[in-house]
Amino acid sequence: MAQKLALGIDLGGTNLECGIVTEQGTVLHRATRPALPERGPAPVLDDMAELIETAIRQVGASPDEVVGIGIGAPGPLSHRDGVIYKAANLPGWENVHLLRGIIKRAGLPATLENDGNAAAYGEFWAGAGKGANTMVAFTLGTGVGAGAIIKGELLHGHFENALELGHTIVDPGGRPCSCGQRGCLEQYCSARSLGRRAMEEIERGAKTSLTERVEPGKSLGSLPVAEAARAGDALACRLWDDACRFLAIGCVNVQHTFNPQRIVLGGGMSRAGDFLLDRVRFHLDAQKWHLHSDLPEVVLGQLDNNAGVIGAAGCALRSYADGVW
Ligand SMILES: [Zn+2]
Repeated sequence: MAQKLALGIDLGGTNLECGIVTEQGTVLHRATRPALPERGPAPVLDDMAELIETAIRQVGASPDEVVGIGIGAPGPLSHRDGVIYKAANLPGWENVHLLRGIIKRAGLPATLENDGNAAAYGEFWAGAGKGANTMVAFTLGTGVGAGAIIKGELLHGHFENALELGHTIVDPGGRPCSCGQRGCLEQYCSARSLGRRAMEEIERGAKTSLTERVEPGKSLGSLPVAEAARAGDALACRLWDDACRFLAIGCVNVQHTFNPQRIVLGGGMSRAGDFLLDRVRFHLDAQKWHLHSDLPEVVLGQLDNNAGVIGAAGCALRSYADGVW
């Protein structure tokens, strides 16, 4: 029997990534280009179709081997209808029928998932979530994405926006978020929030080695803060610790909402490795529930920035295997 392959697309505000993935979750070919979403959906869909065609050609796949396309994209969106309603980092995109556009161009069946869901499915299927029955994954990137797999199935929710954990409120009346709320989790433990908080302190005159890490015109990410904290910088230590404390609060809330076996921490910030994990576990321990011992394992993601591509392709392979297509 011929092997089955699927295309995984990760559409972000900055990059458009495409990979061709096997049934075992191995990426055979991967390509990236700038997304440039401000051009509008049509040229982005054209680029997507071109990347797909190139990927299929590069691996020499025959048409009966490629089962379809999975796309992970920022939301809110409709998985059911294949429509992106609106996205903060895809300016001007409103009610875009992404699936219709890509099916027409590529001539293959396709499925659309929220990017947090796609990354979570990737870790569940081929990474740190392997073997777990119920798990939640955080993607700690520019913002905070998430996804939950309950008894092997991605949870979408009635309105299809489940697991917007980045916008759960962890600090009532706290820092304003671009979503209109205040005190959202992603205002405390994402790359953008760490960078912003550091810049605010620097502007207030804080003495910190982070000043040397600021590049003109560029925002500070989470990893320079982690590096400075590791080197003992007082401000960086405070910000990093605070980010880990809020993330631990996020994990406690997840524990009581979903009661998962495992919580996976992925995305760019997770490249800090044990420096992240140890601190989150420390704060989790400090807040431990005393009524019953059901603390999930908290682990680092294993797929790094491939989680979205692998997960999206995994969703496509799943649709095929389940006979959805
Ligand atoms: Zn928010």
